[in-house]
Amino acid sequence: MNSINYVTEYEYASAALLLVLMALYAARKKFHTETNGLFAALLVCTLISSVMHICTTKMLGHASDYPLWLNYTVNIAYLLAYVSISVIYLVYVSVITKRRNERKADRMIARTCLIVNSVLLLTTPATKLIIYFDSDMNYLHGPLFNILPGIAIFILLYTLIRLVQSRKQLKTIQSISILTFTILSTIATLIQLAYPQQIMGNYVIALSLLMFYISLENPSEYVDSLTNCSNAEAFFITAESFIERKRNFSAAAFCPQGLNYFTELLGLRESGRICAIVADKLKKRLKKSELFYLGNWEFVIISENAEASELAAVIQDFFKDPISMNGIEASVTPYICTLTYPGFVNGAKDIRDAIDYTLKSMKGGKETLMEMTSGSLEAKQRELKVLAAIKQAIKDDSFQMYYQPLYDIKTGSFSSAEALIRMIDKELGFVSPEEFIPLAEANGLIPEIGELSFRSVCRFLKSGKAQKYGIKYIEVNLSVLQCAQEKLGSQLIGIMEEYGIPPEQINFEITETAGLANYDTLLSNMNRLISRGVSFSMDDYGTGFSTANYLITLPTDIVKIDKSILWPAMENNEAFIVLRHTVEMLRSLKKKIVVEGVETAEMVKLLSEIGCDFLQGYYYSKPIPPDAFIMFLSQKASTVQTV
Ligand code: C2E
Ligand code: CA
Ligand code: CA
Repeated sequence: MNSINYVTEYEYASAALLLVLMALYAARKKFHTETNGLFAALLVCTLISSVMHICTTKMLGHASDYPLWLNYTVNIAYLLAYVSISVIYLVYVSVITKRRNERKADRMIARTCLIVNSVLLLTTPATKLIIYFDSDMNYLHGPLFNILPGIAIFILLYTLIRLVQSRKQLKTIQSISILTFTILSTIATLIQLAYPQQIMGNYVIALSLLMFYISLENPSEYVDSLTNCSNAEAFFITAESFIERKRNFSAAAFCPQGLNYFTELLGLRESGRICAIVADKLKKRLKKSELFYLGNWEFVIISENAEASELAAVIQDFFKDPISMNGIEASVTPYICTLTYPGFVNGAKDIRDAIDYTLKSMKGGKETLMEMTSGSLEAKQRELKVLAAIKQAIKDDSFQMYYQPLYDIKTGSFSSAEALIRMIDKELGFVSPEEFIPLAEANGLIPEIGELSFRSVCRFLKSGKAQKYGIKYIEVNLSVLQCAQEKLGSQLIGIMEEYGIPPEQINFEITETAGLANYDTLLSNMNRLISRGVSFSMDDYGTGFSTANYLITLPTDIVKIDKSILWPAMENNEAFIVLRHTVEMLRSLKKKIVVEGVETAEMVKLLSEIGCDFLQGYYYSKPIPPDAFIMFLSQKASTVQTV
């Protein structure tokens, strides 16, 4: 009697612990995750098992005081709840370990075990196979009783295999929790089902669930510390779980433009708080919708109740009023993109990709509200393919440099050429540098490409063929990111020395944006290279800010007027005036002038008249491979001679 009283206290303790856990769990902020429901089911099942076990132990010595059906009901309920814990646990682990391919098998095993357990237990009053009461109302195990612990232990060992298979994907604390639960409950099950009076099993399980609560069902992991919003990981889990459960939902992602005003005035650290303020205020306006902060000033709202357009309207309305912090006010325009599920996406990653692509494509444009389309996803996927192709081309050193001659009006010959990079991928074919250079920049691959292409140009110059036909220098494009690298100057000098190329044979093209990125580094790189004899061109003049400042302060000899200035000048008089005055201004600044995009004889005539120095364009030649370029030069030389 004593021993039963003593052991029951464990069950009271376990029931109390479970109730506390349930209360904590219910009060806590949750995401619509699959483990949510399963964790709750584990808590409930363990609680039923505990309570029923208390009843069975209370009734054990006095079974005859109660009707037979009640004895059976209480005992069967206890056993069924107890063996179901391991079944739910299997599904729970299956979800956590994210082994999608095995999930079907896991569920089938769980279902089969549940059915076998239920059938055996529910029929035991008739079959007496699991438990029964003899004529004196003594509680006894039937011949098949050991099947129950057998199944439970089989399941626990099976989850152990899953754990081992996916240990790399799990955090250490997750692995430890699963391992502890599995081992402890295996031991507890063995003891408990063999010796019913030793009833610590539920207590051990309750303790393990506490561990799960802390380590696996930990909400702080899903909260962004800056904004106190659910984070990107939480967004992923939520969206994925909606999609898996085939629930309809809508999403609206947005990126507030204008918050950088606070960054400028308050500094990055302090201004980060503006995101938190925005999140906090916006949350109050959202009914039954969840707000997530994806990072990088990007938010997304997911809702099962509101239409995508309604979400967009809430966001627009929210940003109607200026945002204020520390007495500073700024009006903020959000770029919003929306999506409705089901649609073109197949998973949370698709949504993330579509958001990334759509918001990026909206920046700097006029549209502030767009629907995400399969096109955005395709474009994102194309980006990923191009990115992979770039990486492959870097690995194989398979970029090619093409050369486009520059015509020298004064001498009537081709005295220089621009090196332009080409990528021809096995799968994608020709990919334009306009497409892959920005991608390479955004992904930090430009320094490697820059080095490979400059080596290629140096190899070409080393052959000396082009120089024989009067080529004095090659123009090489430098990207903004390259210019911001401190070691750029010494690296380029090193390569020129390696190939024995006189620095005078190189002219680097930079754009104004290079100055914006890191002016001081750019300038020191330029001065270092210039001191060796290299010269510089200002590329794409007329497309950017065209600040007089950079024109004056950056030591460039040549300015390349962009085709977007030339082409309209052929069509209308105002644009022609702009071109003419640009040329005049640059001449007064003693810059040599190149005009790009020269396609017709008419352009050649006009540009020669207004005093340009060099012409570059399809009129003379498209960019062509090195051999073709040498051939081009030799033909031109022979025509000049024969003329
Ligand atoms: P960019 O530096 O402005 O190069 C001139 C672009 O105009 C080249 O395009 C050239 O093929 C094109 N072009 C030249 N003449 C004409 C013409 O008469 N009509 C027309 N319609 N186009 C003409 P491409 O080769 O596609 O290069 C595009 C851009 O990619 C370049 O613009 C440059 O910004 C970048 N890029 C190319 N090669 C390199 C490189 O080696 N390194 C870096 N960082 N960027 C490069
Ligand atoms: Ca260029
Ligand atoms: Ca250009």
